[in-house]
Amino acid sequence: MASMTICARFRPLSSKERRDHGDAVCIQHVDSETFSFKDEKDEEFTFSFDKVFYEKSEQAEVYEFLASPIVRDAVDAINGTIVTYGQTGAGKTYSMEGPSILVCDEQKRGLLPRVVEGLFDCIKSSGRTMKHSIKLSMVEIYMERVRDLFDLAKDNIQIKESKSQGILLNGVTEISVSSPAEALQSLSNGIANRAVGETQMNVSSSRSHCIYIFTVQQEVKKDERSKAGKLILVDLAGSEKVEKTGAEGKVLEEAKTINKSLSALGNVINALTCGSSGKANHIPFRDSKLTRILQDSLGGNSRTALLCCCSPSPSNALESLSTLRFGMRAK
Ligand code: ADP
Ligand code: MG
Repeated sequence: MASMTICARFRPLSSKERRDHGDAVCIQHVDSETFSFKDEKDEEFTFSFDKVFYEKSEQAEVYEFLASPIVRDAVDAINGTIVTYGQTGAGKTYSMEGPSILVCDEQKRGLLPRVVEGLFDCIKSSGRTMKHSIKLSMVEIYMERVRDLFDLAKDNIQIKESKSQGILLNGVTEISVSSPAEALQSLSNGIANRAVGETQMNVSSSRSHCIYIFTVQQEVKKDERSKAGKLILVDLAGSEKVEKTGAEGKVLEEAKTINKSLSALGNVINALTCGSSGKANHIPFRDSKLTRILQDSLGGNSRTALLCCCSPSPSNALESLSTLRFGMRAK
């Protein structure tokens, strides 16, 4: 049975939210798993998650609870996925990267640099008995096209499935990294490339999914089957609804495509968590590129964590409610 951890995180109010609404927030802290939420009509809802990270939560807490067990398992060849979900501006990228991948306060570092460090630490502590190597790929999905963020010329990567290796991105660049510093430099290059590609195509990063893939290979003796754990982190496109009136052309097409892939993800997670009936139920992985790429890191015995990122401001209550409901459905 797949293991699923679903958490909610509220970022601090932004200066704009403070300017417009003062200190008002739409959530009330109950405990570390439960809070009550008031929508714009003052209707009250209670939500419970595996853990709630409130405005003052630290990046390290999020890593420890949500990511560190998945990192340890990846080194033991168990696949895992960590996903940030929420409207644009809700804190997905901050949770994933921190203010910057390369230069930032230790305290503010996001999941990615901590995952990198965690992987190398786990390998070091298992070093006496086994050798490991880490490879890194980075791709972006925009309008159902997969682009290689280490080589922008590869702008239409195909997804394949192999018996021995599972889901593969055909021809994707894989960078071997032998230290945390090397891994962070590569991540930073990929993020910079993403910005270049977006400027060229005139699209916003909030409209594409960014996918980080760490493959942790165990080097085994001759004749033994090699084992690898795949750890995938996903910074999703913004989940906000686009106004039906007004949006047209490219904006509307983007919104429809994003909506389709986010609901595909919701459906897959839902099918996986409802799968305890014993019956082999159908999991609709093929409904989007996103779920297809995640196929062997979501199902089976893999571990998944979903971080539902929200603004605490009443002005964003509608979108936050929709994000929280997505998370509840996944439970
Ligand atoms: P998203 O990626 O979901 O669009 P961002 O991560 O870019 O949103 O966050 C929007 C803004 O809020 C950024 O300026 C970011 O620095 C800030 N922010 C988000 N989460 C936090 C947090 N937990 N603590 C402090 N600032 C945050
Ligand atoms: Mg972002």
